Amino acid sequence: MRKDQTTHIRPHVDSEAYAPARPSITDQFGRTFNYLRIAVNEKCNLRCIYCMPEEGVQFNPKNEILTTEEILRVVKVVSDLGVNKIRFTGGEPLLRGDITKLVGKSTTTPGIESVHLTTNGVLLDRYAGDLKESGLAGVNISIDTLNIEKYIQITRRDELVRAMEGLEAAKTAGIPSIKVNAVALRGFNDSEIVEFVELTKDYPLTVRFIELMPFDAHQIWKTGKFFSAEHIQKELKDHFPNIKITTGTATEHFIFQVPNYAGKVAVIPSYSRNLCGNCNRIRLTADGNIRNCLYAHNEFNLKELMRSGGTEEELKELMLSAMWKKPIDGWAAQKTGSDSRESMTQIGG
Ligand code: SF4
Repeated sequence: MRKDQTTHIRPHVDSEAYAPARPSITDQFGRTFNYLRIAVNEKCNLRCIYCMPEEGVQFNPKNEILTTEEILRVVKVVSDLGVNKIRFTGGEPLLRGDITKLVGKSTTTPGIESVHLTTNGVLLDRYAGDLKESGLAGVNISIDTLNIEKYIQITRRDELVRAMEGLEAAKTAGIPSIKVNAVALRGFNDSEIVEFVELTKDYPLTVRFIELMPFDAHQIWKTGKFFSAEHIQKELKDHFPNIKITTGTATEHFIFQVPNYAGKVAVIPSYSRNLCGNCNRIRLTADGNIRNCLYAHNEFNLKELMRSGGTEEELKELMLSAMWKKPIDGWAAQKTGSDSRESMTQIGG
């Protein structure tokens, strides 16, 4: 038994004399994980070409997807282990009818300081008010182009207008943190960098340019569309020579602000993976598997343990050992074998 980690929480240890105020989830490289990304479904109302084919992928049947109670149990378990930030992702999380309940209950879980959501925005105009009421702290809206024709080309759906209405609804509802995620694609939206940055002029939102990642069955990323964080930054500085470096979250490795603009611009090296040293993220797939890295293939089945009567201590034990085994970075993680997940919609991003 590894002395350093599990002894913190074994019930028979005299916690007063030993355990710190709140245990924490760490790995063998000294990183601490306080941020859990929970995929609440796999289904989506878009068909982005770098994510899945028109016909979709092999989705799990409903009974294999975590229930409301199971998700909230996991939130409680990790909050006891020092996690203070939750993000709900998908698929498209707004397709799940209990999403405002999940947000509301999570925000009132002791130890959870903020709850966030990543959505494609198409249904956001319907939910923004309720989500704000339920205490949602932040929303990331995935919009890869501001051009209707291009949007149809990349998502295979004519939904840009609704996605932009979703963005406006988030502003109107007063959701504290609003971010626009744009996957940077060479020869596709690299010509729209200025338009995207202009979204940050009058409103304090963050535009995040994200490197394309190899999580699509058809390997679109091999077709020369990869646009590196380095090149994105060069383009930004070419168009905005007086752009300044500023501060952001752990993921926002490179973050800037145009002088006198209200918002910020971030560049996420999600493929280059030079942000792994500060990684603080845990992932839970919609079918209840812990992924200790986005690129890792060896998963840890929390659902099975929950459905076979696992105790809180056993769930914590599994979470702790899963993260203790986290590889040093995404490159090492990519070498941890293979899994059946062919699309980002099955991982949760
Ligand atoms: S690639 Fe893995 S280790 Fe690196 S930042 Fe992403 S999740 Fe963390």
